[in-house]
Amino acid sequence: MATAFVASGRVRAASRSEFHMATFSADVTIPIGHPCMGGGIAPAREVVDPLLARGIVLLGEDRPLVLVAVDWCEIRNDAYDRWRSALAEAAGTDPSRVLVSSVHQHDAPVMDLEAERLLREQRAEGSVCDPAFHDQALRRVAAALKDALGSARRVDGIGTGTARVDRVASNRRYLLPDGSPSFGRTSATQDEYAREQPEGTIDPMLRTLSFWDGDRPVAALHAYAVHPMSYYGSGGVSSDFVGRARALMQEDHPEVFQIYLSGCSGNVTAGKYNDGSTENRPVLADRMYRAMRASWEATRRGPLERVGFRSTPLTLAPRDDEGFSVAELRDRLANDSRPFGQCLAAMGLSWRSRCEQGRPIDLPVIDLGPAVILLLPGESYVEYQLLAQRLLPDRFVMAVGYGECATGYVPTDRAVAEGDTNLLDWCWVAPGAEAVLAETMAKAIGAKT
Ligand SMILES: [Zn+2]
Repeated sequence: MATAFVASGRVRAASRSEFHMATFSADVTIPIGHPCMGGGIAPAREVVDPLLARGIVLLGEDRPLVLVAVDWCEIRNDAYDRWRSALAEAAGTDPSRVLVSSVHQHDAPVMDLEAERLLREQRAEGSVCDPAFHDQALRRVAAALKDALGSARRVDGIGTGTARVDRVASNRRYLLPDGSPSFGRTSATQDEYAREQPEGTIDPMLRTLSFWDGDRPVAALHAYAVHPMSYYGSGGVSSDFVGRARALMQEDHPEVFQIYLSGCSGNVTAGKYNDGSTENRPVLADRMYRAMRASWEATRRGPLERVGFRSTPLTLAPRDDEGFSVAELRDRLANDSRPFGQCLAAMGLSWRSRCEQGRPIDLPVIDLGPAVILLLPGESYVEYQLLAQRLLPDRFVMAVGYGECATGYVPTDRAVAEGDTNLLDWCWVAPGAEAVLAETMAKAIGAKT
């Protein structure tokens, strides 16, 4: 399967060429009063710690590749397109070669400009985001990227490391005493019975991919599949426990640029190990930090010989069941008595407008030889990350989630069939997404299913 990918004529490999890497970081902290989580929880009341956009630009013979992790909850639809074109312009590349992933903290914004336009047009009480702040933040990130190009460093090696994360992730799904499934093990779970149940389906491994200039490390990208929240909802803007772990690694290794990416964790939270108390944030941060350290120490290095890239279009049908037709979404936007209900409808309409325009989601894959990065949309369930690894069993596969977030949850068929309650509102794709996504993933990474 791996050889199919290498041999594919569609993957452009820049062999025996020189590669360089620029690293950039910019502050994207929302102002006080800005909505958090698309208006579903309290707006920003105080900044506990700043939100950052941290990225790399990989420069070789081919056009540059950009990968950026943003400490925001989600970036969707036209906002997502705008990120890709602004960063592409700054890097001198094509938007299809810009991979944007939200880290998905909840005391952080959901950016959807069309949704906000619809809300304002309706003079709705609900608000998703501030478009002026969005553009200002994006300009700052693009400027940081552009500045960084001048100090790009040579990279001629990559490193891969993994470590098991101890007591952080658990699946939302667990079985009730009568054997029926519950999907209610949320980020902060106080229910003793729910916390006693097994972790369920997760990917226990944290992965670290690093870039090297000879013996000097340049950048380290860590990825793990878990919702990154310890507690949230009171307006305390924060990059949460994963941001804190990232900062600790950065302090330990000031010379190595540290990035944290959330894996496919739509149905994975810290619930089994987290009661939502403020004291538990540093505990979870310490566990992530220990895993990052172990993964870094376990790093095995090899030459960076080629950088391949492929982007495959993914067409997921919009959801059309009760409450989700365009007419019903319009009605909810105008008449839902809850401001958040209006916001959800506006986000649904924004996605519908994207679908009607025939703009598919891109599923990009960066092929670095022994290591592969792929970016999946929205809140893809962890099963898709596990599938990616099964499709390329001989490679180090870093699956990253929360690319184009317009989809909301991308569940498995089983979750839909079992009536996963998380899908009631924050999911805008039609049932049957699993076959389409699995097939597109296989195509994207050149594997046969
Ligand atoms: Zn989520």
